[in-house]
Amino acid sequence: MNKKIIGPLSVLIIFGLWCCTSEEKRLRSAQESVAAEKLAADTKILASDEFEGRAPASVGEEKTVQFLEQEFQKLGLKPGNGQSFFQEIPMVVITAEPGAKLEIKGTKESTTFAYKNDFVALTERVLEEVSLADSEIVFAGYGIVAPEFNWNDYQGLDVRGKTVVVLVNDPGYATEDPTLFSGRTMTYYGRWTYKYEEAARQGAAGIFIVHETGPAAYPWGVVENGWTGPKFSLTSEDNNMSRCAVEGWLQLETARKIFETAGLNYDELRTAASKRGFKAVPLRLRASLRLKNSVKKVTSRNVVALLPGSERADEYIIYLSHWDHFGTNPALEGDKIFNGALDNATGTAALIELAGAFKKLNRPPHRSIIFLAVTGEEQGLLGSEYYAAHPIYPTAKTAAVINMDALNVYGRMKDITVVGYGLSDLDQYIETAAKEQGRTVNPDPTPEKGSYFRSDHFPFAKQGIPAIYPSAGTDSVEHGKEWTLAQREKYTAENYHKPSDEFDPKWDLSGAIDDLRLLFKMGYRLAMESTFPNWKEGTPYKAKRDADLAKAR
Ligand SMILES: [Zn+2]
Repeated sequence: MNKKIIGPLSVLIIFGLWCCTSEEKRLRSAQESVAAEKLAADTKILASDEFEGRAPASVGEEKTVQFLEQEFQKLGLKPGNGQSFFQEIPMVVITAEPGAKLEIKGTKESTTFAYKNDFVALTERVLEEVSLADSEIVFAGYGIVAPEFNWNDYQGLDVRGKTVVVLVNDPGYATEDPTLFSGRTMTYYGRWTYKYEEAARQGAAGIFIVHETGPAAYPWGVVENGWTGPKFSLTSEDNNMSRCAVEGWLQLETARKIFETAGLNYDELRTAASKRGFKAVPLRLRASLRLKNSVKKVTSRNVVALLPGSERADEYIIYLSHWDHFGTNPALEGDKIFNGALDNATGTAALIELAGAFKKLNRPPHRSIIFLAVTGEEQGLLGSEYYAAHPIYPTAKTAAVINMDALNVYGRMKDITVVGYGLSDLDQYIETAAKEQGRTVNPDPTPEKGSYFRSDHFPFAKQGIPAIYPSAGTDSVEHGKEWTLAQREKYTAENYHKPSDEFDPKWDLSGAIDDLRLLFKMGYRLAMESTFPNWKEGTPYKAKRDADLAKAR
């Protein structure tokens, strides 16, 4: 080798090494800046009694969105919606007077059921009064019309003006038959949201879902909290008149009694309904119910912060969390504030933490990063539905959505869970990032709970944007799997959607920090690429994405 060029070459090599390592070092130190101290402090603030449980359109909302705006401003992020950090969401709050009675009339006898204990009901119609008046009751099995699974519970049935009673979840779950629907994995047809939508399409006046703790994935108390008191909805042009007049749930025992009155056996019919060829059964009973409502139109806000990309600022990665929770219920004895510490003060604080980490890079990644804290998740994914229907950033230019809802507070895990694993190209990004930490990626251990349809990534998926919902791992480094699942079940039974979901200084956030560092790296990689991830073949979201990407070209 010519000695003359060795000098400059070695300088180049050394400079090159120095350059890359410095860049990598910076990336690593940005990643490692994600730490438990501020995450805990921010979670504690968001979950404090002062924030009153963060209900949409409340004093708690004002405090929450101001806090987030200030934090994003302090970090030097830009407003994500023009000049504003907020996206306004028009909503209606409908509060039914408690004490409504459900009257079921047979040919001879009539039975009255009590609001809250026996059933819950509400309306999304923007009306001060709705009622069922001697509405014929029909048991419509699972209340599902699914051509791709060759299933139609409404086949040959005219339910206009009638009240349908349906089962929760889907026949695949009930039978564990892998050839029915998606076997144990809940499909969207298993969700209450779908059942209400379908009953409305069929023209039913009322719909009641029979509650069972197993297939619903939560106890009656969760239904009771969610369906009584103020109910928030997005408003449509027709003031939600296309919805059923009455949407509700029946306690299992209530359903059994109603079927008994009809001379039928609920448990037998439930089994029959999960078999192919089941035909709906008119109960020859009539339902009457009157709901008196107070109706209030309000505005809530999504919080949107922007870190402009350094090369392709018109392409986006969205980190997503819901800031809202259930607020305060003055009617409760004892603790009246639903602090929502785990759900989802942790995920909201994580947005700040991740934004801080991206700001520590030498220069921002090529694509823009959006930090989106949405409202109204607990009321039915309202903020994310609204954003997905009124996107601030074009859907075809949005490469990916990463959703965080309830972080891991049980310490370090050997794995990370992906709810809806196997659906999109995003799997490989999370796998790579997990591998760097010596961890594995596992699918949702309880797919029968339908978690994929229960958090904010779902409205984005329906719009075709690849959206992933990474969740806490299930295999504790220190205590193993059984222990971890027991912790989760304990939380669901004791604290989920209850005032007792409070910040706990004893939480071990080391696992959450691992997860956030992993999600940072994943988002960073996605933001440095120029390709657009897609859904896998055969998923219900791919057609929309394909059309979207084709149009953008
Ligand atoms: Zn949540």
